[in-house]
Amino acid sequence: MALPARIDDSAPPYGTLVFDCDSTLSSIEGIDELAGPRKPEIAALTERAMAGEVPLEAVYGKRLELLRPSRAAIEALGAQYVATALPHAVELVRALRSLGKRVCILSGGIRQAVFALADHLGVDPSDVHAVDVFHGRDGSYAGFDDESPLARAGGKLEVLRSIARVDRRGGVVLIGDGATDLEAAPSARRFIAYGGVVRRKDVFARAVVTCDAPDLAALLPLLVATDELEVLAQDKQHHPLLVAARVAR
Ligand SMILES: [Mg+2]
Repeated sequence: MALPARIDDSAPPYGTLVFDCDSTLSSIEGIDELAGPRKPEIAALTERAMAGEVPLEAVYGKRLELLRPSRAAIEALGAQYVATALPHAVELVRALRSLGKRVCILSGGIRQAVFALADHLGVDPSDVHAVDVFHGRDGSYAGFDDESPLARAGGKLEVLRSIARVDRRGGVVLIGDGATDLEAAPSARRFIAYGGVVRRKDVFARAVVTCDAPDLAALLPLLVATDELEVLAQDKQHHPLLVAARVAR
């Protein structure tokens, strides 16, 4: 894994908030959930990639080739992402968007399933970056986009760089749990190692800012400036989030 030598950090405000999906916005690892009885075998491959022991591309195609998920299986996974969204995910995205921020999902997961979570959270489909899978007319698996940078190590860095390039409002913050997120940290103004689902030791050791509360409300003060918190406090709809943020800290 090409680990960043040094990670800089600068305080909010930011223009764009970029969230990883699996084990960050949702408590599952999507591809593992497609595995059925083969889950232990597939999960072991995923874990090695997320811990940075092997490059992502070494497991990406292999896992999908073993599972060959149908269109119906991907749809079911989308519903599972929604059902396992972390506490206050919806409220956090709503608050960030009300402040005029761009909210993106950057995932090595399957785009069609991540779309379902994005829709639930109120993230624009054009702000979802993930990997396409293809299906035949009968809904059977027909491969994945093996050109996607998100199916290989270092790919999140590339995509995050292009997201940062169009940000005009204070730069990008990245929130994620895995080695592939840590790799992308150099193109963010802040990287938050998120351990509310899985606390990965090597990722936490390298990150300047960390959070291991199992409630996404705890991220709020790390993502917005004090004056932005005051703006949120003026609107009643954000009060449950603000209270939860205080409690979760
Ligand atoms: Mg993850």
